Amino acid sequence: MSDTDTARYSLADARERDDADPLAAYRDHFAVPDGERYMDGNSLGLAPDTAVATLERVTDEWKELAIRGWEAADPDWFHYGEHLGDLLAPLVGADGDEVVVANSTTVNIHTLIGTFLDTLPGTPAGPDPSADPPAVLVNDLDFPTDHYAIRAQFRQRGIDPDEQLVAVESRDGRTVDEADIEATLAERDDVGIVFMPSVLYRSGQLLDIDRITAAAHEHGALAGFDCAHSVGAVPHALGDAGADDEGADFAVWCSYKYLNGGPGATAGLYVHERHHDATPALAGWWGNDKTTQFEMRHTYDHAGTAGAWQIGTVPMLSSAPIEGATELIREAGIDRVREKSLALTDYLIALVDERLGDAFSVGTPREHARRGGHVAIEHPEGYRVSEALRDRGVIVDFRPPNVVRVCPAPMYTRFEDVFRVVETIREVVESDAHLEYDPRGGGVT
Ligand SMILES: *Cc1c(COP(=O)(O)O)cnc(C)c1O
Repeated sequence: MSDTDTARYSLADARERDDADPLAAYRDHFAVPDGERYMDGNSLGLAPDTAVATLERVTDEWKELAIRGWEAADPDWFHYGEHLGDLLAPLVGADGDEVVVANSTTVNIHTLIGTFLDTLPGTPAGPDPSADPPAVLVNDLDFPTDHYAIRAQFRQRGIDPDEQLVAVESRDGRTVDEADIEATLAERDDVGIVFMPSVLYRSGQLLDIDRITAAAHEHGALAGFDCAHSVGAVPHALGDAGADDEGADFAVWCSYKYLNGGPGATAGLYVHERHHDATPALAGWWGNDKTTQFEMRHTYDHAGTAGAWQIGTVPMLSSAPIEGATELIREAGIDRVREKSLALTDYLIALVDERLGDAFSVGTPREHARRGGHVAIEHPEGYRVSEALRDRGVIVDFRPPNVVRVCPAPMYTRFEDVFRVVETIREVVESDAHLEYDPRGGGVT
């Protein structure tokens, strides 16, 4: 390394970057574990004091108001899923009526895939049940739960998932080429729904939602997205995606990753307004029109908004933290959050290139337009490296076969943390400390 490189990649330089960071003060809002470098905000975001405050407010309302909280709390609990939808709508680029906080991500995939299958020819409830069944286009690097849910929805409609769940193959085991999605759409005329992640959970590739929406619509298919790994880190324009800004059809996401809503926090969903008359596949009374819900009729009265895809009572204690957490991100500004996220991952990638040996490689695309909020660092002994790092207070996770995911979540991570994380990785492998760990265990990492 030259002298200038040494200066560029030093603790002093990292601290200079922190001094120049306009979002630096947000870190003080978060419960950063003492003495740790927390790099797992893409799996579970840290607790912001603003989220704890809204949770405490709801807990106090429960004590003071009890059943009256459904109406007398502020904001009232009855419309709380819709209220959070309004707060989140700017983060996903949609109207308030198109977004609601409800259920879990997996349940939302079930109900939305089921809903939209039922609008297609070739399904029992669809316009032409005798037509050939529709296909759902996914990819072979997807998060597993997405495929499980889609397969189950096919089975419930008497459709063979082995035939109709079609996975676009990755060329390199890391990324999915949008051109391959387009080619599959051109080859098969039976694709009814394209369901893709915004960001791949392992490599961190950011897919082009605009382009995929345009391609799906050009071939007469619906475009849905799993945005679990992007909402809160990457700005979205779901309502304007596609060739004519016609908008993506539907989307789901988690609230406990970059949104920092707490473990198992209630998920979010988006349904474009042109579909607000579709029948929810998993209907429940909480999706009923709120003005008639307590008439307790036995026929479902569609809410006429994305709120219709709620199922049961909003889980207040798993939803309340989302309010405070989202307000913090909105205040910081999602564009500035994204800018800092890219600066952090640029810096991390540069450090991996410069400071770690050839055994390491970066599996995340280097172009900003194709990169989400975390970096996949690949190493043949990735599992043991990740275990050694955890024992040294560097909280990362491992995804098979060889990926150490490092997420410098922009709301609370400093450039200094990134620098120190890479130095710790270097110390671990230079001293062979990772070889003291068992090759591969099980459990949650
Ligand atoms: C985290 C994640 C999920 C998790 O779904 P849950 O129902 O909250 O367990 C689903 N899909 C993707 C792509 C994820 O990253």
